Amino acid sequence: MKILTSVAIEPTNHCNFDCVMCYRGERERGYMSWKTFIEVMYQIKKIRTINLIGLNFAGEPLLHPNFLEMINYINSQKDFRIVLQSHFPFVALKRGYSIAFTTNGSLLMPEKFDALNGKVDRIQISIDGSKEDTEKQRVGSSYDTIKRNALYAIFHKMPNTKIAIHATKTTQTQESLKKFKSDWQNADEVTIIDAHNENLVRSSRLPQLSLYCHELNHYLVVLWNGDITTCCGDLAGRNICGNLFNGGISKGTKPGSLCKECNIYR
Ligand code: SF4
Ligand code: SF4
Repeated sequence: MKILTSVAIEPTNHCNFDCVMCYRGERERGYMSWKTFIEVMYQIKKIRTINLIGLNFAGEPLLHPNFLEMINYINSQKDFRIVLQSHFPFVALKRGYSIAFTTNGSLLMPEKFDALNGKVDRIQISIDGSKEDTEKQRVGSSYDTIKRNALYAIFHKMPNTKIAIHATKTTQTQESLKKFKSDWQNADEVTIIDAHNENLVRSSRLPQLSLYCHELNHYLVVLWNGDITTCCGDLAGRNICGNLFNGGISKGTKPGSLCKECNIYR
């Protein structure tokens, strides 16, 4: 049953880090233009069941010079959205959108966080265990900066903004991650997933749904240049199946080459 409920918008696939586990691949790098962003929002508004917008995909979203304007624009859209629920009454109405994004934390300085605070439902910050492990895995990072920014966010956030701290487990980090959950106990959520590769991302997020792909039925991604892909694991753009300016999001998505290698689809 294809009913779109969430869309990821990729402000940019540029990044200021070069992590060892990153699989963005060689896809052309760029920044979403304001015209493309407005077109995405125009098309999203026409599909009433979309109520969650993820404002990141590959890359570091806070590098986009208009990131805050994007958040403000989404928040200014107050039309009613239809929320599908798994419990009675199965459908609810909600004004406006829920917004979430993931960041490597390096650019979430206190003044940037203050500008976003209360305007975003969930911010996920990636940190990989100890200072030594984080800086080894996240090449180009400063653990002290990320930690300072994350702590500021945790202790200054408004009640409607959740802060999630997220780690990627590899053979390098598994030891220092043993006390990760207690180290970050003041965050709203702490998650650890196995090291990224396209298959692990999918299997860790959707462990039981072996015959039903949530991504293909309820989700799509609009990349910075307007290309459309199916899957939260498709950072490299292997499943691109359309473009915003040629068919658009209402055309939906279809399985691509990545799906043929995926436990969920085959
Ligand atoms: S922070 Fe994310 S997007 Fe940037 S290099 Fe690391 S894994 Fe890739
Ligand atoms: S690769 Fe295809 S089948 Fe697998 S999760 Fe992504 S969209 Fe679904």
